Amino acid sequence: MSDPEWDLDPKFDFIEAHRIATGSRVSLDDIDTQMEGPFRGKDHGRAFTHQAVEDIRNLQYRMFTEAKQSLLIVLQAPDAAGKDGLIRKVLGQMNPQGCRTYPFKVPNSEELAHDFLWRIHACTPAAGKVSIFNRSHYEDVLVVRVENIVPKSVWKERFELINDFEKLLVHRGTRILKFYLHISHEEQLERFKKRLDDPTKHWKLNAGDYDARDKAAAYREAYEDVFEKCHSKDSPWHIIPADKKWYRDASVAAIVRQTLQEMDPQLPSIDADLDEIRRLYERESAELQANKK
Ligand code: AMP
Ligand code: MG
Repeated sequence: MSDPEWDLDPKFDFIEAHRIATGSRVSLDDIDTQMEGPFRGKDHGRAFTHQAVEDIRNLQYRMFTEAKQSLLIVLQAPDAAGKDGLIRKVLGQMNPQGCRTYPFKVPNSEELAHDFLWRIHACTPAAGKVSIFNRSHYEDVLVVRVENIVPKSVWKERFELINDFEKLLVHRGTRILKFYLHISHEEQLERFKKRLDDPTKHWKLNAGDYDARDKAAAYREAYEDVFEKCHSKDSPWHIIPADKKWYRDASVAAIVRQTLQEMDPQLPSIDADLDEIRRLYERESAELQANKK
C-alpha cells in the first residue's frame, strides 16, 4: 500500500512509540515535544503523511461500504497545540459522506440540563462512519475540574462513567483512538504570538488562554489522571509530540492508518446477479449502437 520511496525504518512503530503503557503513570514533563521519529526532516514527514492520508481514504471507503465497524477519534490538547490543523490536513481529508467532526464547546443550557455524556453520545459514529471529536467528554474531567465548575465529588465519579461509556461503544463495534497533542509551554507562547500577528487568526484569541497557561500545572495533573484512569487496550491514549506540526500530522496519520488496517474492513459481498446485470448492460449498449446507425 505504501510508496517504497517513503518507506521508513521498518522497526519504527508509531503505535508503540506513542501509545501510553497500561498501568503506569505518565509524566508529561518527561515526554519530548519535539520528536522527529524516523523521518529525514520535514519534507520526508510531509510526503509520508500524503501517502498515509491516501491509504486512510481507501480504507475508510471500505469501512463505509462494509457498514459494520466504526471509528471514533478523540482529540484533546492545550490551546494552539494544533487540533484544527490536524483536522484540516489529515483527518478531515476523509470522505465527508462517512466522516464528521464535532467540536465541543462550553455546554449550552439544554446540554447542562442533561448528564455530561448526553451531547457526546449523540455524536458517536454509526456503523461504517468516522467521528472526530475536537475536544470531548474529557473536558468534563479537565477544564471542569481545574476551573472548579463542579465539586470534586462529582468529577471524580466521571472517570468510571467514561470508561463504562467507552466500553459500550466498543461493544457495538466502534474502535476508539484518543490523542493528546503535546506542545511545550514555549512553543505555545510562540503560536499565541503568531495568532496576534495574523488578523485572520484574531478570532482564535482569548484572554482565557493565558489563564490556562497560569494553570498549566493543574491541567498537567488532570491530564495525567485521565491517562492513568481512562486508558485501556480497547480505548487507548496516544501522546503525540506536537511542537513540529509535520510530525504531529505524520504520526497521527500513521496510527489511524495502522488501526484501519487492523480493522480490515471488507467490501460487501454482492447479492445481485452479476451475469444478469452484465447481460442487461450488453443489451442496452447494443440497442444504443443500433439506434446510432
Ligand atoms: P475552542 O476549542 O478553543 O474553540 O474552545 C472551546 C472551549 O470550550 C474551551 O475553552 C473548552 O475548555 C470549553 N469546553 C468544552 N467542553 C466543556 C465542558 N464540558 N465544560 C466547560 N467548558 C468546556
Ligand atoms: Mg481556543
